[in-house]
Amino acid sequence: MPQNLLDLDLEGLTAWFGELGEKPFRARQVFHWVHQAGVADFAQMTDIAKSLREKLQQQAVVQAPAISYAHTSADGTRKWLFDVGVANGVETVFIPEDDRGTLCVSSQVGCALECTFCSTGRQGFNRNLTVAEIIGQLWVAHHSLKTEPNRATGEISERPVTNVVMMGMGEPLANFENVVTALGIMLDDHAYGLSRRRVTVSTSGLVPAMDRLAERCPVALAVSLHAPNDALRDQIVPINKKYPLRELMAACRRYLVHAPRDFITFEYVMLAGVNDQPEYARQLIELTRDVPCKFNLIPFNPFPDSGYEKPRAESMRVFRQILQDAGYVVTTRKTRGDDIDAACGQLAGKVADKSGRVLKRMHKEAA
Ligand code: SAH
Ligand code: SF4
Repeated sequence: MPQNLLDLDLEGLTAWFGELGEKPFRARQVFHWVHQAGVADFAQMTDIAKSLREKLQQQAVVQAPAISYAHTSADGTRKWLFDVGVANGVETVFIPEDDRGTLCVSSQVGCALECTFCSTGRQGFNRNLTVAEIIGQLWVAHHSLKTEPNRATGEISERPVTNVVMMGMGEPLANFENVVTALGIMLDDHAYGLSRRRVTVSTSGLVPAMDRLAERCPVALAVSLHAPNDALRDQIVPINKKYPLRELMAACRRYLVHAPRDFITFEYVMLAGVNDQPEYARQLIELTRDVPCKFNLIPFNPFPDSGYEKPRAESMRVFRQILQDAGYVVTTRKTRGDDIDAACGQLAGKVADKSGRVLKRMHKEAA
């Protein structure tokens, strides 16, 4: 089997080049070609000695997951469905805004954690994505977008993807090693050079892995809270039975020791009549008192047979106001989400903000 170079960070590539008898600076050159120039064909790597190019042709490939579907909506929101050989594939979405471009990346096919309101969780777990499949999502997005004008600004950008959020399918911290290696490549100045604060890992609260992430790669952290007390959280985020809120809050505080001047983003999916009542907002204030944080309120994105309903606009408003009055920064996502397949939960909400109709059509076509 040839070595897929997308599976290796610079350290790994350098070690692999060492085995081939090649110097570290050669590894760096090839790394630039792959990630900065987006070149997969070794023949095009013109400043590499011909003998090395031939060696690479025989022993290596640069292979991102195959695109089974790609769609750009009128406002530039773009979605790719990648063929990863199983189930329905995984999805990646790019959301251009005036001052940034955010890519939502998947980490697993399915998810084992079974949050009750999540369509990925309902699918069950299939497998972890490889490093090549994770970084391949950015590789494909970055290099296809940088040749096109941004639909929001009309400009061509050398760096179309300014932010990455690990909020697609799967629980990133349950695929720890592959995700950390991929994050390292995102941050590496020899590759995408994204700053630590512009890369966000979203977790449902795998406490030991949060500690390991803090040590290995303290990127921005979003924690999927969804309930302010254990009784309720046990029901909708079952991993809470293993890592209850007291432990989760302590882990958040420890995380910020490694990421000074940062804050935790608490995600809170609003489920009508389940967790969207004012008393829960007040409990959240108590719960998060000692954690520097912001809140992101996400209206539930319905999917067939979910058993949940979207919150009323008024409940969202009241909930938000209570948190704001207590001094919290709160963002909310407007959504027309009824018609959106919520596989990419929060993201589908964001996309629906601008292009609900287009996405609806897209999902139908993709199905
Ligand atoms: N597994 C990670 C990251 C992927 S999910 C996590 O749970 O954090 C990204 C976000 O989308 C999470 O906050 C998740 O709770 C939310 N989400 C999942 N299903 C949703 C739905 N149907 N509607 C709205 N948000 C949803
Ligand atoms: Fe998994 Fe996140 Fe969905 Fe929970 S919300 S089932 S952790 S993808």
